[in-house]
Amino acid sequence: MRLLLACLACLAAALPASAAERLPVVATFSILGDLVRAVGGDRVAVTTLVGPDSDAHVFSPSPADARRLADAKLVVANGLGLEGWIPRLVRSSGTTAALVETARDVVARRLDEPGAGHGGAARDPHAWQDVANAKRYVHSIRDALAAASPADRAVFEANAATYLTALDALDTEIRGAWAGIPRERRRIITTHDAFGYYGAAYGVEFLAPQGVSTETEASAQDVARIIRQIRREKVPAVFLETIADPRLAERIASETGARIGPRVYSDALSGPDGPAPTYLAMMRYNLRAFTAALAP
Ligand SMILES: [Zn+2]
Repeated sequence: MRLLLACLACLAAALPASAAERLPVVATFSILGDLVRAVGGDRVAVTTLVGPDSDAHVFSPSPADARRLADAKLVVANGLGLEGWIPRLVRSSGTTAALVETARDVVARRLDEPGAGHGGAARDPHAWQDVANAKRYVHSIRDALAAASPADRAVFEANAATYLTALDALDTEIRGAWAGIPRERRRIITTHDAFGYYGAAYGVEFLAPQGVSTETEASAQDVARIIRQIRREKVPAVFLETIADPRLAERIASETGARIGPRVYSDALSGPDGPAPTYLAMMRYNLRAFTAALAP
């Protein structure tokens, strides 16, 4: 009987960790959840608080979210003011989990207009839009997972190394695609001011639509202002999430010749059946959308 148990134990060691043995980790939003899964693999059970297609800037945690934190051994957040709601949630949950802020080693950019759609954050939290920063996130996640579960350190290091290689390939791909777009055409108007790090890393100028709220749907007057801005600043493409009326989008296109881009993913992944279910897929989807709209 003892022999049988010993063999079962060695069998178990060779198998993926069962659900009960996996390290419970909470990630604040979908992009971080994907990175934690990439590094943690089958040794972690990841719960994401702000799911796909949802806004991490404004989030009202539920009592169930507090329980998720209480059960976790590690909480992974972005920091830089993205999750203004997390300190209170940590306190109210009574969790003893370690908290890691993945953006802690990032050189933070400042938001030009504090409070413009980002809850008054002075630092720009969207650091993951630069792949070099995503690599910093992976280093932070790997080290935090290893601290929380030292026995699995080698697995986390191997998974992280594999994923970092994929991030290097992604970065090369992004740079290669932008190299095909003339510098003077790399100008995009977008309603959500989330691409500052992306623009700095890859040489693209992202302009905010002037005098247009990023929160509410654009009016006919807003559209007239955007048309003037596009002409004045010679912008080849606009990505405007808040223009829900296709006739207004058509008017911009017909009066300026600018291309209207599809919805891009900045702060959340899509669901599993959408075009951006992982960080790698999101970055490739956005790259195709941006470069298609700007190609001469
Ligand atoms: Zn944002």
